[in-house]
Amino acid sequence: MRSAFVPADTIARAGKINLFDLDRSGLADFLVSLGEKPWRASQLMQWCHQRGVVDFEAMSDLGKALRARLAEAGEFALPEVAMAQASRDGTVKWLLRLADGNAIETVFIPEEGRGTLCISSQVGCSLNCSFCSTARQGYNRNLTTAEIIAQVFVARRDLTERGRGERPITNVVLMGMGEPLLNFDNVVRAISLMLDDHAYGLSKRRVTLSTSGIVPALDQLREVMPVSLAVSLHATNDALRDELVPINRKYPLAELLAACRRYVDRQPRRRVTFEYVMLAGINDSIAEARALIRLLRDVPSKINLIPFNPFPGTDYRTSSQAVIDRFRDVLMEAGIMTVTRRTRGDDIDAACGQLAGRVMDRTRRSERMRGAGEHA
Ligand code: SAH
Repeated sequence: MRSAFVPADTIARAGKINLFDLDRSGLADFLVSLGEKPWRASQLMQWCHQRGVVDFEAMSDLGKALRARLAEAGEFALPEVAMAQASRDGTVKWLLRLADGNAIETVFIPEEGRGTLCISSQVGCSLNCSFCSTARQGYNRNLTTAEIIAQVFVARRDLTERGRGERPITNVVLMGMGEPLLNFDNVVRAISLMLDDHAYGLSKRRVTLSTSGIVPALDQLREVMPVSLAVSLHATNDALRDELVPINRKYPLAELLAACRRYVDRQPRRRVTFEYVMLAGINDSIAEARALIRLLRDVPSKINLIPFNPFPGTDYRTSSQAVIDRFRDVLMEAGIMTVTRRTRGDDIDAACGQLAGRVMDRTRRSERMRGAGEHA
């Protein structure tokens, strides 16, 4: 079944619409198409996203006839939890198997007074950052809206079952696998559910989108859904950033920083978080800390130093604690708010840049197959 309100890549099974693909306006249109009142979207969202109820029969404030019609036209289809692992530090990681056999990872990071869920936006990633293990997996496709919001749904349900309370997730970061701004529409639709008072009810400040810097999409995000922004900077000059984050060749530092300034322009108290992975001997000198201060001079910013998390086959090493501390001190002395991200969940490979999932690579696999053919 295809209609105007169904996202183009919705995976419809047995002709039914997966209602996880629809945000408030999509659900309203869907209800109207069934001859119902659009405001019932709030009820549907409350049942599903707030209470975790996906059985139409249990939705007691919807009439019997409507429940039957809903069940006929729609369904709540979730990925399967292939694996859930808990770290000794309380971090939990899920491997979710998607309908097409690919798998993605989602991580929950509990901290004093908050619980942050780190979600994925694509199967694999196309950006090929040299220090990221997801890049090694190659790229397969964008996640659907349903697959993005399902990570929040499944994690919340599982955490509640593990006794972490009714509202264990206070923050969401789009920092898992993939580049969220290259999956713009689905990401925005999923975020609109995270922010909706009848769904997850998070404030814009508590949802953070992390990007390598897709400049035109950054401007668009500012217009439609200005959530907190984190930018993967990692270098202070174009030559090095071209190497570490190759999308820099398309959107170099000057353009990226101008877009960051625009992003917080009209929001007086907002800052952009700049992520900076600490790679020994590559980007961790005092001179680089000073260059960073100059670079961020007119962008209201915070800096997040991330100790590099190694993965099999990488030549990079993380900077020593002493080097990281010194780098941080230089930034702090210049008045830049700087936090060193603690490595969490490393005993279950749940740290930044270690998420792998299981990607059926559409990009490199074909290259490998061509290569193999030539040698045969
Ligand atoms: N594509 C988005 C979001 C995913 S990456 C982005 O680039 O921002 C989330 C963060 O983890 C990014 O800052 C990324 O650069 C960082 N990261 C990737 N690999 C890492 C590794 N091995 N060690 C530490 N941080 C890493």
